[in-house]
Amino acid sequence: MELNEAVAKLKEKNKKLAAYYHAMGVMYYDIETAAPKNAIGGFSDTMAALSEITYKLEVNEENFELLDFLSAHADELDEITRREVEQAQNGLKLLRNVPMEEYVEYQRIQSEASAVWHEAKVKNDYAMFEPHLKKLVEYNIKFAKYAAPEKDPYDYWLNEFEEGFTQDVLDGYFDKVKAALVPLIHKICEKEKPDDSFIYKFYPIDKQRELSQYLMDVIGINKDDCSIGETEHPFTTGFNKHDLRITTHYYENALTYSMYSVIHEGGHATYEMGNCDELTGSPLFGGASCGMHESQSRFYENIIGRSKAFCELVFPRIKEIFPEQLKDVDAEKFYRAVNLAQPSLVRTESDELTYSLHVLIRYEIEKKLMHGELDTKDLPAEWNRLYKEYLGVDVPSDKEGCLQDSHWSGGSFGYFPSYSLGSAYGAQILAHMNKELDMDALIASGNIGKITEWLREHIHKYGQIKKPAELIRICCGEDFDPDYYIDYLTEKFTKLYEL
Ligand code: ZN
Repeated sequence: MELNEAVAKLKEKNKKLAAYYHAMGVMYYDIETAAPKNAIGGFSDTMAALSEITYKLEVNEENFELLDFLSAHADELDEITRREVEQAQNGLKLLRNVPMEEYVEYQRIQSEASAVWHEAKVKNDYAMFEPHLKKLVEYNIKFAKYAAPEKDPYDYWLNEFEEGFTQDVLDGYFDKVKAALVPLIHKICEKEKPDDSFIYKFYPIDKQRELSQYLMDVIGINKDDCSIGETEHPFTTGFNKHDLRITTHYYENALTYSMYSVIHEGGHATYEMGNCDELTGSPLFGGASCGMHESQSRFYENIIGRSKAFCELVFPRIKEIFPEQLKDVDAEKFYRAVNLAQPSLVRTESDELTYSLHVLIRYEIEKKLMHGELDTKDLPAEWNRLYKEYLGVDVPSDKEGCLQDSHWSGGSFGYFPSYSLGSAYGAQILAHMNKELDMDALIASGNIGKITEWLREHIHKYGQIKKPAELIRICCGEDFDPDYYIDYLTEKFTKLYEL
């Protein structure tokens, strides 16, 4: 085979796969946002049929030979093609070893589990969801063994989400976070709590939609490239740099929930919109890893969105939209309220300071599930025990407890640590950005585009060409270092609470 011919074959296959994933992604978006409840049966069947096609496109001797040939000529390939080949080989580790019937069956189990979880959460009925979760755990252990029999199954999944991270590394990381944050949170709990009661007044949803549109403009998102849908649990999905979908959830009695979820998901979308043009239709379109993706969403949400300068920038407009509700509030009061730190029940509503402890709890539970040390029947009790131990809170219902996140219902185990790592990456990126940019001045003048430009140049444009650790080195000129995260939180909250 000629090298040129092999590269052309690879690109043609990538184009086909991108089209199928595009179709499946739009269907997923549809089932989450617009489809009627009873659409789920037909949706599951179609997804299973499409999965079979994408499976066959990748798992066949001809493709294995093609990739093996290209791997052998890796030195002669351009950087993008070389990484595409490397990633395809990694992805096939799983597909090459899982029997097709099991792979297709798993897709079906996943769709069903996701639908049941939605209902179980509404009904606060863990028992209804438990048999589905049990199957997902079993399949994940089994699949990890197929792909990497020599590896611990949880290490296998952790590495899938964040290349290079193992339980050894994460145990060390979380020990550090726990040692620094728990005493800080204790000190803050002794201080007087800022008044945030105004956030829970009545905020009509149509007015909140108007606020979302304004926030998209402030963070510089082109609305012709990115739309907002409404779902139970906010998420972002992207197909190319001109078709991003973010979602949010509006609560009539919680102004900032949707506000910060729009900024967070907007950060995810901004990352993908900043990919270089060469990545259109390439499997490398997107973010370097889950953690790097979270680093960007949380950069916009917390580092920009919860800064004093940002609150001062947007508050006048928020007050214009909700003059009655906010008549006794000023930007300073708003800033303190959106940075309120206190132990709570729900991860997605938790504050910047306590957030990583929510992640730690999920990490410990996943570790036990993947090692068969915790039966899914006992999960709620273990969940509640850990919330009491680390955050000091009693969990009143599974709806606010172990049923709150969608990840396990989608078959994702090993994803959660990325959320915490994302914040840690973000703090390190900030420290280096500050050497070149005056962040506060840029935010105060509404010039967030300049910050986005810097991130695009150092991170966004690479998509998945570079691995997360490489991106940190490109961006910061040094290896990943969690101390920046601890310093950032300590400094911010010591000042805010005058400790
Ligand atoms: Zn996110």
